[in-house]
Amino acid sequence: MMTKLLTCCAALLGLFAFDNSASAYFWYTTAPRCTSQADCGSGLTCMEMHDSLKFCLTTCSGDGECGGQICHHGGCVTPTRWFRTELTVKVSTTVPQEVAWDVMEPLVHQAYDAWVDLPGCNVPQVDVVGTTASTAITTPTTLAEEPDNIVVFIKDSQRWRDIPGATNTQIALTIIAHNPETGEIADADIAVNDAAFAFTTEDDATAGVDLLSALTHEAGHFFGLAHSKDVDATMAPGYGSDLSRRIQARDPATDDVQGICSLYQNVPPHVDPTTGGTGGSDGGGCAGAGDGGATGLAGVLALLGLVAVRRRRVAVSARRA
Ligand SMILES: [Zn+2]
Repeated sequence: MMTKLLTCCAALLGLFAFDNSASAYFWYTTAPRCTSQADCGSGLTCMEMHDSLKFCLTTCSGDGECGGQICHHGGCVTPTRWFRTELTVKVSTTVPQEVAWDVMEPLVHQAYDAWVDLPGCNVPQVDVVGTTASTAITTPTTLAEEPDNIVVFIKDSQRWRDIPGATNTQIALTIIAHNPETGEIADADIAVNDAAFAFTTEDDATAGVDLLSALTHEAGHFFGLAHSKDVDATMAPGYGSDLSRRIQARDPATDDVQGICSLYQNVPPHVDPTTGGTGGSDGGGCAGAGDGGATGLAGVLALLGLVAVRRRRVAVSARRA
């Protein structure tokens, strides 16, 4: 009896959880950007989505109107997400001087685990498999490359600004490379702005940026979540004005959970481009960003279309906290 009851309630909860028409979370998608209706072809509408950015979309009120795409906030979209079910991440050994190395690797683990271990969701597994000597983000040039998915700490302000879309007020960002046709993420690297910010891992520290909540936010981008309009969400673009809020952001809020669980429903299988076989192996990466001086996180995402790099789109948003 109890089992039945739980099943019933879980199903009901699911209905609410995945009714994204009333939600605050957003997914990254393959949709082209626009600034006005004139940028969109016939039948498409220039609609505002996350971070006040606009995209050319077919309007919808349900998935049935989207011909294989998904109806997300009133527009038919192909989400940007991982098809692989198991991903690996490497952490740069060049860490912020204020954070001990033996703290860093478990901290990165913790940031990903906050999303991976959500009960009842099909978020890809992420394993932090060691270190990289790389001190810069990397971008694959073909879909056949294995993702390296690195977390790097950029110590030089000029090198930070060299990252597409980066500004000095961003705490971190995630660069995602995806297949523009299918939305499959092929690589995602997180870069932390160690040139402009000091970081802390202490619960009660007020002097630095809370590194765990920043990494958890970036990990959300890594999986394909854009910024949420829910101010209590980990994926809110600006947070951190008070200590309790920063600590709270280390754990995904209800809106974040709904966002990622719905994103990882009915995911197509990964197809190995070299063999044509399916199966999950490596992969992972995401980009998020911080802004608002010492008090805010904002988002910056660069989507690098692998098939056609010339179609590279850079979406930048910064919320002033
Ligand atoms: Zn962000």
